Amino acid sequence: MCGIVGYIGFRDAFSVLIKGLHRLEYRGYDSAGIAVIEDGIVGFKKSGKVSDLEKVCEQHIFRSRIGIGHTRWATHGAPIDCNSHPHYSENGKLAIVHNGIIENYHSIKEALLLKGHTFSSDTDTEVLIHLIDEIKTKTNLDLQDAVRAALRKVVGAYAILVLDEDNPGRLIAARKGSPLVIGVGNNEYFVASDATPIAEYTRNIIYLNDNDVACVNYDGLSIVNLNNIVQVPFIHELELQIDILEKGGYPHFMLKEIFEQPRSIRDCMRGRLYPDEGRIALGGIKIYEDFLKKVNRIIIVSCGSSWHAGLVGEYLIEKYARVSVEVEYASEFRYRHPVIDQHDLVIAISQSGETADTLAAIELAKKCGATVFGICNVVGSSIARNTDAGIYTHAGPEIGVASTKAFTAQVTIITMFAFYMAQLKQTISKNHLKEHLAELNLLPELVELCLHCDDKVKKIAEKIKSSNNCIFLGRGSAFPVALEGALKLKEISYIHAEGYPAAEMKHGPIALIDEDMPVVFIATNHSSYEKVISNIQEVKARKGVVIAIVSESDTQVNKIADYIIEIPEISEFLVPTLASIPLQLLAYHIAVSRGCNVDQPRNLAKSVTVE
Ligand code: GLU
Repeated sequence: MCGIVGYIGFRDAFSVLIKGLHRLEYRGYDSAGIAVIEDGIVGFKKSGKVSDLEKVCEQHIFRSRIGIGHTRWATHGAPIDCNSHPHYSENGKLAIVHNGIIENYHSIKEALLLKGHTFSSDTDTEVLIHLIDEIKTKTNLDLQDAVRAALRKVVGAYAILVLDEDNPGRLIAARKGSPLVIGVGNNEYFVASDATPIAEYTRNIIYLNDNDVACVNYDGLSIVNLNNIVQVPFIHELELQIDILEKGGYPHFMLKEIFEQPRSIRDCMRGRLYPDEGRIALGGIKIYEDFLKKVNRIIIVSCGSSWHAGLVGEYLIEKYARVSVEVEYASEFRYRHPVIDQHDLVIAISQSGETADTLAAIELAKKCGATVFGICNVVGSSIARNTDAGIYTHAGPEIGVASTKAFTAQVTIITMFAFYMAQLKQTISKNHLKEHLAELNLLPELVELCLHCDDKVKKIAEKIKSSNNCIFLGRGSAFPVALEGALKLKEISYIHAEGYPAAEMKHGPIALIDEDMPVVFIATNHSSYEKVISNIQEVKARKGVVIAIVSESDTQVNKIADYIIEIPEISEFLVPTLASIPLQLLAYHIAVSRGCNVDQPRNLAKSVTVE
């Protein structure tokens, strides 16, 4: 939620900031703003997209080498100009951009109001910059110390950047609970919510830790924690490639990312899948092999699409490794006093690795003594660093807000994990395992074949694009795919959609079915094929419009469905990945034909770093 960026160096700060905000816009896009230091602080802010901010800045000739910027996903206060960041101290000398939530902002604001402060926004963020100013003025503390003192009074999550026109050669950066990375160049520094604004300037990256407060000058930086203990930064080498941050000829990032899946899945399996030996190697969790052989309960915590990937895990891990799996929404898990202990394995799944609820769930699980693994996409993210061990999905940056390649990479990881556990626990025969892994190895090519349905899906999308509702049904491991298909459709096309286990339809949703209701079935020729056919008949009997994803060899569904989309002949364990592809395309084409902004759907943001 929200992206922040800062720069100090020899370049034109405005250009670096605007370019950086465009890169971060997937994180939030309801308003944007920048502040730079020229003779004093000069700032611009505007509700809307970064391009709207650029228009507001058009008249100004920028001449600054230091500045901060923000693209917002509002939590406190409507997305209007005055609530956009940066926010300022009352005298206008301090400016702040913030990602996160200051939970106790109300009591701090009350106290500041009594001291005579006046506020010009409804945000929690403005309260923080007033507090910093109050401390700095009253105590004469140095800027970094004043920020530290203010942050010690704050409850909540933040990544902040602070500018001070009285200290025009320094930028203060601090984080707790929200991500922040520093790019170290030659006599220049970049600070941002993730590495995407930094990648084209430097490969040297410092991931700030929670409670770090960094003071970045033109010629160096120093980091202390909230208790003023010096922290020694570790410089990582960034692997991110720039071309992945461009649309590469596609009209939208989402479509590009859908078509990238053969590659992203291959990257996800690289070095982990050894089909000739019939073996999976997951280096990141290898030292836990003895624990994994004994573990008899796994709890998967996640949100959104990652939760759906977790549900696929429940089906596959229980089936192949015979370990009990529970899948929980992280936001529920963290508050419901779950019964877990040191014998349990908790797996947190998150694309960004920054999901606030999932991070809180991890903390709780660790306190209870559980071993915690992370499955995330962003290298060096908070989840990657706060878990005992983990497996990166290596899908590459996902810019489209609706998850596509990150989801299928998560499903691929969880599938490999299921076989890895089965291999360790010897709950699958060597021959079987080898057969399955040989097929898994073909997944990138199978996804490539699946993508050939694009034209057909586009035509189907035209037929159903005006519907107000849509139901997605599947059984077994195709049930989470139905949930994911429904989520994709609702988040980018704003059509109300629900996913159900196909057999549950009779317990309520069937009442909704009439000639205006499209019903999407995952009806491949696997364990529940006949039963799904009966469910399709039930929908047809009520005049519903049936769109069915079927196996190439299908002989029955094609006689009763209105539209069919074929996917290659595969074993059932590959259905969750392959059946997801046409559903992604269906949501995409419907959204495009309804004129929706598929890469930046309303009210959403990519990385949910607030509760
Ligand atoms: N809480 C702040 C606001 O509402 C920041 C939200 C964000 O992370 O974008 O403005």
